[in-house]
Amino acid sequence: MENCYCKSGKPFKNCCEPFLNKTAFPKTPEQLMRSRYSAYVLHDADYLVATTHISERKYYSNAEILKWSKSNTWLKLEVIEAYENIVEFKAYYLNEKQEAQVHHEKSTFKKEDKVWYYFDGVFFA
Ligand SMILES: [Zn+2]
Repeated sequence: MENCYCKSGKPFKNCCEPFLNKTAFPKTPEQLMRSRYSAYVLHDADYLVATTHISERKYYSNAEILKWSKSNTWLKLEVIEAYENIVEFKAYYLNEKQEAQVHHEKSTFKKEDKVWYYFDGVFFA
């Protein structure tokens, strides 16, 4: 039984796949966050743009997301804390120079017509 890209321990088809192929919507910000991490692994920039809150979408370009997702090797995701509309996580990856990096972020999500969207985040050094 393969582990989902987001390392939840569940098979991809029972975890992020239904969200990425749009047969279901994430019920919680954590599910959305996990599926967005899987979208980076799979270079699915369309999903990343589509799940960003409409008011924030202007700050993101499909081409830049694609470049960023492809230039890194995504190793694992660690969800540190998830409550209400907040998810704090660490994403581990190798940059294009093969140097180990950690992206540590506390993300805020917003619900619009029963659908969760990524709103913004605070980054930790
Ligand atoms: Zn997953």
